[in-house]
Amino acid sequence: MFVNYIFDWSGTLVDDMGPTLEATNAVFAIHGCPAMDREAFRTNFRLPYSEFYEEHIPHVPLAHLETDFRTAFANSEVPVTVLPHARETLEWTQAQGIRCFILTSMDSATFEAQLDDLSLRHFFESTYSGVIDKREMIGHILDRHGLDPTKTLYFGDMVHDIETAKHGGVRSVAVLTGYTHHHALHEAQPDWLVDDLAAFRNISLQTSTNLS
Ligand SMILES: [Mg+2]
Repeated sequence: MFVNYIFDWSGTLVDDMGPTLEATNAVFAIHGCPAMDREAFRTNFRLPYSEFYEEHIPHVPLAHLETDFRTAFANSEVPVTVLPHARETLEWTQAQGIRCFILTSMDSATFEAQLDDLSLRHFFESTYSGVIDKREMIGHILDRHGLDPTKTLYFGDMVHDIETAKHGGVRSVAVLTGYTHHHALHEAQPDWLVDDLAAFRNISLQTSTNLS
C-alpha cells in the first residue's frame, strides 16, 4: 500500500507549457538560437535543464539564462492552469490520508506564487522547489519526513522524474500530460505509464490491494 505521494509540478499537476515555451524561445532569441515549436520542445527539452541549455546555448552562465527565462515567463500572458484531474486526484489522496509532497525544478518564487494562485498549497505537507537535479534531493525528502521508500510513489512527466524515483528507490508513475512524449517515457521504464492522473486513479481502484 502506497501512503506517500511525491509529485512533480509542471506537466504533472499544472499546465505551464505555454509560458515555458514562450520563455524558452525568448532565451533562445537573445542568444541567436532558432525558436522551437511545441513538438520540438517536447522532443528536446529535458531535465536537469542545465544540460539542456548547455547543449543549445553553451558557454553562457546558467544564472544569466535563468534570469532571462524568469523575466520572460513572468511577462507571458499565457495562463498556467491546473491540469484536468489533478485537483480531483489531490482531493482523493487527501480523503485517504495519503501524505503528499512536491519536488520540482521550477524556481521557488514562481512556484510559490502558482501554489497560492491555483489554491493547491493545502494539499501538501511540504514542498521542494528550485531543485535542478532532483536525484540529489529525493533521498533527503525520504529521510527528513520518515517516508518508507517501499510505500512511496513519485509522479512525473519527464525521464528525469523516473530516474529520480529509481535513484530514491521508490516506484514511479509517469503521466503523459506534460513535456515528454510516450516513446521516451516508455523507454525510461516507469512502474506505471498513464495518460493522466484519472487513469492512475482507475488503476489504483482496480488493484486496491497493492497500489493504494
Ligand atoms: Mg514536469
